[in-house]
Amino acid sequence: MPPRPYNFSAGPAALPLPVLERAAAEMTDWHGCGMGVMEMSHRGAEFGEIMSRAERDLRALAEVPDDFAVLFMQGGALAENALVPMNLAHHGRVDVGVSGAWSAKSAAEAQRYAEVRRVFDTSSDGFTSLPDPATWRLSDDADYLHLCSNETIDGVEFHDLPDLRALGSKAPLVVDCSSNQLSRPFDWSRIGLAFGGAQKNIGPAGLTLVYVRRSLLGGADAACPSAFDFARVAREGSMFNTPPTYAIYIAGLVFEWALQFEYRGLRGLGAIEAQNIDKAALLYSAIDASGQFENRVTPAARSRMNVPFFLRREELTGIFLAEAKAAGLLQLKGHKSKGGLRASLYNAMPLAGVEALVAFMKDFERRHG
Ligand SMILES: *Cc1c(COP(=O)(O)O)cnc(C)c1O
Repeated sequence: MPPRPYNFSAGPAALPLPVLERAAAEMTDWHGCGMGVMEMSHRGAEFGEIMSRAERDLRALAEVPDDFAVLFMQGGALAENALVPMNLAHHGRVDVGVSGAWSAKSAAEAQRYAEVRRVFDTSSDGFTSLPDPATWRLSDDADYLHLCSNETIDGVEFHDLPDLRALGSKAPLVVDCSSNQLSRPFDWSRIGLAFGGAQKNIGPAGLTLVYVRRSLLGGADAACPSAFDFARVAREGSMFNTPPTYAIYIAGLVFEWALQFEYRGLRGLGAIEAQNIDKAALLYSAIDASGQFENRVTPAARSRMNVPFFLRREELTGIFLAEAKAAGLLQLKGHKSKGGLRASLYNAMPLAGVEALVAFMKDFERRHG
């Protein structure tokens, strides 16, 4: 068999091969119980074991403090754009920092449920930078401040979450971390609630993770569906209704894989972060050193996970994609709103995949320069 291609999809994205192989081996019979995971009651002992192990491993991996509940939900990150105001906007006032396409969507959706104030908006520079938090126009009466920690489409990432207390705000910080959760440690002391769809760095689409400080639970809007009332879901251990069982099982295998991941003498999330730093540095330096490719994001705000880039001769984009695919480098097409190219470097992408991409880019530039 030829080697498996490297898959740079922005999401749903590549999963670690050992995880896929293990899931395949366990497809029809999980641990000798005579059933596949998709066929089990979510309330049975077998799935109970899968679920509690997944939560335990996720908490250990991401060092989620005990005063946070971890909810295994459905609806994706876009549903959270409505569910977070329904659960947290008790006074109907929400601050949003608009740093890219996803936080712009979050602001627009929150506006259906609350008065939204944009504390900054970088659309005027094409979402290529992040303003200093000291310049943000924070409200003194917001129920929370929403940020997107990594803009998947624009390739902009907060490398430090803001310390809202130090900025004089009492609002909890809400973070859409869909595309950088588990790519690096988070400073939970700065976070009130974080959410993310699983399909970027964790597992199959259909599972949404919500990490919420227990002190924020309760008092959801009366119109909020019970299945999406965070307090209710937390109380029922994410079993108010049937959770996405197979997606949780795969996520659990990914957590196990990540806990054992080793790189440069490190293990677990530290090892994952170290490899992510090396992958991003390798690709950005190749782009910056080339005469043919460019990335337009200011270096301090560049995402480790999603690297949008462009050919200076735009007419070569289609040829690049076709030749890359033939060379075993898949799904490098840029988002439809931006055009160009995008390489997503989630945890499952090994350094060797980025080395292969960079070698291909150099060869492409030599042939088409
Ligand atoms: C992918 C993504 C979304 C959308 O997630 P869905 O699961 O499709 O709702 C929202 N925010 C960010 C940052 C994303 O990367």
